[in-house]
Amino acid sequence: MTAFVIVGGGLAGAKAAEALRDQGHDGDLVLIGDEPHRPYERPPLSKDYLAGKSSRDEVFVHPEQWYREHGVDLRLGAAATAVDRGARIVRLADGSSVRYDRLLLATGSSPRRLPVPGGDAALYLRRVEDSEAIKATFGAGRRLVVVGGGWIGLEVAAAARQAGTEVTVVEVAELPLLRVLGREIAAVFADLHRANGVDLRLGAQVESIAADGVRLADGTSLPADAVVVGVGVAPNTALASEAGLEVDDGVLVDASLRSSDPDVFAAGDVARAQHPFLGKHIRVEHWANALNQPAVAAAAMLDRAGAVYDELPYFYTDQFDLGMEYLGYVEPDGYDRVVIRGDAAAREFIAFWLRDGLVLAGMNVNVWDVTEPIKAIIRAGAAADPDRLADPAVPLEDLALRAS
Ligand SMILES: Cc1cc2nc3c(=O)[nH]c(=O)nc-3n(C[C@H](O)[C@H](O)[C@H](O)COP(=O)(O)OP(=O)(O)OC[C@H]3O[C@@H](n4cnc5c(N)ncnc54)[C@H](O)[C@@H]3O)c2cc1C
Repeated sequence: MTAFVIVGGGLAGAKAAEALRDQGHDGDLVLIGDEPHRPYERPPLSKDYLAGKSSRDEVFVHPEQWYREHGVDLRLGAAATAVDRGARIVRLADGSSVRYDRLLLATGSSPRRLPVPGGDAALYLRRVEDSEAIKATFGAGRRLVVVGGGWIGLEVAAAARQAGTEVTVVEVAELPLLRVLGREIAAVFADLHRANGVDLRLGAQVESIAADGVRLADGTSLPADAVVVGVGVAPNTALASEAGLEVDDGVLVDASLRSSDPDVFAAGDVARAQHPFLGKHIRVEHWANALNQPAVAAAAMLDRAGAVYDELPYFYTDQFDLGMEYLGYVEPDGYDRVVIRGDAAAREFIAFWLRDGLVLAGMNVNVWDVTEPIKAIIRAGAAADPDRLADPAVPLEDLALRAS
C-alpha cells in the first residue's frame, strides 16, 4: 500500500489530506503537526477571534471526527525533525519515524523576530494561543504599541482599537503597506486608521523594546502595556534544506508543486512554485493559496496528468469598516500606474495596478462580487484603456472582453 505523509498541520496540510482522500488515495495517510490542535485557519486570529466575535470551535478546518472517518492518522504535538530521503522516512521529535512513498511539506511560515534589544519579549501572532495572549492585553485605558504597519499589524491595531485600547502603530516606511500597495492606496489605509484614532508613527525606527514600552531611534519613548510585533514571516524551510531539497525563500517546486525530489511536494506558505501565467516562481503567504494548492499537490502525488497550479494570488482583509479583496501579483515597484474606479476618499472603489498598460492586479474595497471580472481583465493579458477602467459606467465585464 502506498503511504502518503504530510508534514504541517495547518490549512494546507488539512486540505491536502482532504484532497488525497477525495481523489481516491486509499492507502496510509499520516498528517504530522507540531501544534497541539488539529488544523485550524489563521485569518480569524487577527479578526473575529481576536475581537471576541467568534469562538475557538469556528477556526478548525475539519470537525475532530473527520480525521477518523477519513482514515487520516493525525499526529499532533509532533514535530518532524528530519526527512531521510534515502530511507524515505520522516523522523519525529519523540524518536519515532514514519515511512513514506510520497511526502508533502506544508510547514507554513513563522513570524520574523524584530532584531532589537527586547525584540524577543514582544508578542507575535501566528498561533491561536498568540491571539488569546494579545486579546488579553486589550481594553479601555490600556496602551498597545504595534510594531509593523503590514496586514497583521493593521488588523491587530483595528481589533485593539475597537476594544477601546489606545493604539500606536510604528512603521519604518513613510506609509503602512507602502511596499505592497504603493503610495496611492497605502494612504487609504493610513487615513482609515487615523480616522479611527490610531496614532501612526511613520518613518520611525524601533531601537529597543522594554516591559514599559518602545524606544524609537530618534529618542522618543512610547509607553505601552503590551507590544505586538508584525514584521512579516519567513517560510519554515529548515526540514527541506537539511534534507537537501532545493530551497530559495521557500521550497522550490514546479507548477505541479513537485520539489527537486520527485517524491516530495510542497504547498501553502512554504512553497515557492513556478506560476505558469506569471512565468516565474512565486511564494504566496495567503489563505487562498493554502486552501487551493493542496488539490493540485494531491493530484500530482497521485500521478494524475495535467496537475498544475495557476490560480492568481488572492488576499482579503477586514479593518474597521473596510473590507477588501486583492487579486493578482505586483512586485514591489513593479507597476507604473494606479487607476482608481470609484471614490477612494469614501473607501468604496476598485484600484488597478498597471505596467505598460497591462493590468497586473486589482483590489476592490467595500465593493463586492467583482473578483471574477477582475480576474478576467488580468488574465486577458492585453493593454487596457485606463479611462475606461476608471469609468464606473463601463461594466467590468466589458473591459475584460475588450482586453482579450
Ligand atoms: C494572524 C493571521 C491572519 C491572517 N489573515 C489572513 C487574511 O486575512 N487573508 C489571507 O489571505 N491570509 C491571511 N493569513 C495568512 C494565512 O493564514 C496563511 O497563508 C496560511 O495559514 C498558510 O497555511 P499553511 O498551511 O501553508 O501554513 P501554516 O498555517 O503556517 O501551517 C503550518 C503548520 O505546520 C506546522 N509545522 C511547521 N514545521 C513543522 C514540523 N517540522 N513538524 C510538524 N509541524 C510543523 C506549523 O506549526 C503549523 O501548524 C493570516 C495569517 C495569520 C498568522
